[in-house]
Amino acid sequence: MNPLSNGRITIDLGALARNWQVLAARHSATSECGAVVKANAYGIGIKPAAEALFAAGARTFFVATPDEGLELRAILPKAGIYILNGLYRGSASTYAENALRPVLGSLPEVREWADFLRSSGAKADAGLHVCTGINRLGLTLSEAEEIAEAIDEYRPFSPGLIISHLACADDPDHPMNALQRDRFRHVSRLFPAARNSLANSGGILLGPDYHFALTRPGIALYGAKASKTAETPLETVVTLEARLLMVRMLKKGETIGYGARFTAPRDMRAGLVAIGYADGFLRRSGSTDDREGACFHLSGKDLPVVGRVSMDQTVIDVTHVAESELTPGMMIEVFGPNMAIDRTAERADTIGYEFLTALGRRFEREYIGRSSGVQA
Ligand SMILES: *Cc1c(COP(=O)(O)O)cnc(C)c1O
Repeated sequence: MNPLSNGRITIDLGALARNWQVLAARHSATSECGAVVKANAYGIGIKPAAEALFAAGARTFFVATPDEGLELRAILPKAGIYILNGLYRGSASTYAENALRPVLGSLPEVREWADFLRSSGAKADAGLHVCTGINRLGLTLSEAEEIAEAIDEYRPFSPGLIISHLACADDPDHPMNALQRDRFRHVSRLFPAARNSLANSGGILLGPDYHFALTRPGIALYGAKASKTAETPLETVVTLEARLLMVRMLKKGETIGYGARFTAPRDMRAGLVAIGYADGFLRRSGSTDDREGACFHLSGKDLPVVGRVSMDQTVIDVTHVAESELTPGMMIEVFGPNMAIDRTAERADTIGYEFLTALGRRFEREYIGRSSGVQA
């Protein structure tokens, strides 16, 4: 490890590949498990992640934006790539030239794509996003019905894939799930020639009647929980460790950090760690006298964050760690195998997704397990 390093992000590509394979094994023979690699593969690095997923067997990938699509196309020349944010105005030819399939999310996008196909003669595939209740991207149900009825007017356009997105897939008891699934069944019947895709990670865990022809898992691949109650079958992919800078003794009643919002309830040994919100350790992970924060982990012990998280440093309570075990320069686990990212996220009133996509740039990155997934 580089002596100048502030910390280390270890990414287990073998675990990533196995997470995909475990999810894929839950699919029937008629449904394909895709992979979502938007936002730099949830912060872990799109190139190593996409290569590992393709080697594990994934063939259909989803990104959010066209520039992510171009980056992915250079990495995976043969993969199917869908752009979830849809068609960016005036760029249809760029999509077509790079075999990027827009998931058309509004009537103007459908018209622009159809016009482009007609005028260019290009044979390019696209998906269609239909909203079944989340009210984010997607045509309304009645717009989808209108397009289906008048499909000849849009020729040569014909959607290759129909997608919709679940609003509450992380909550198996939520009535929205069945409602959206039933609306989606109706929509799929409008376009019988197209494949269809409804489930994200949480949707896969809802069971086979949510799988349809293609699924779109993201978070579960990267080792964070996809459901409040259903067990997410996953191995830890990301371990974040930060450097211990120094240890100081505090007397009962002294305060720690900006705003003096945490008061030592007893004499305390405090460890100063080189990670802050600029490194993606969200400020909401801090604690005050009234509110618990996140914990780090060292040799079997959870070490609570004390006081506010600042830009470059965080203080933890190491009173119960033997002094001989604390050496400035050592690495302390922020989250990873001994401190699930979901526990950290819960203490910060957020979700694992936010911690992953916030992973900072000041830490060294190490990729391990490159080929320990099963090769396709
Ligand atoms: C991000 C996203 C996914 C992946 O969701 P996870 O909850 O991370 O599995 C799937 N579909 C769409 C439309 C998305 O935006």
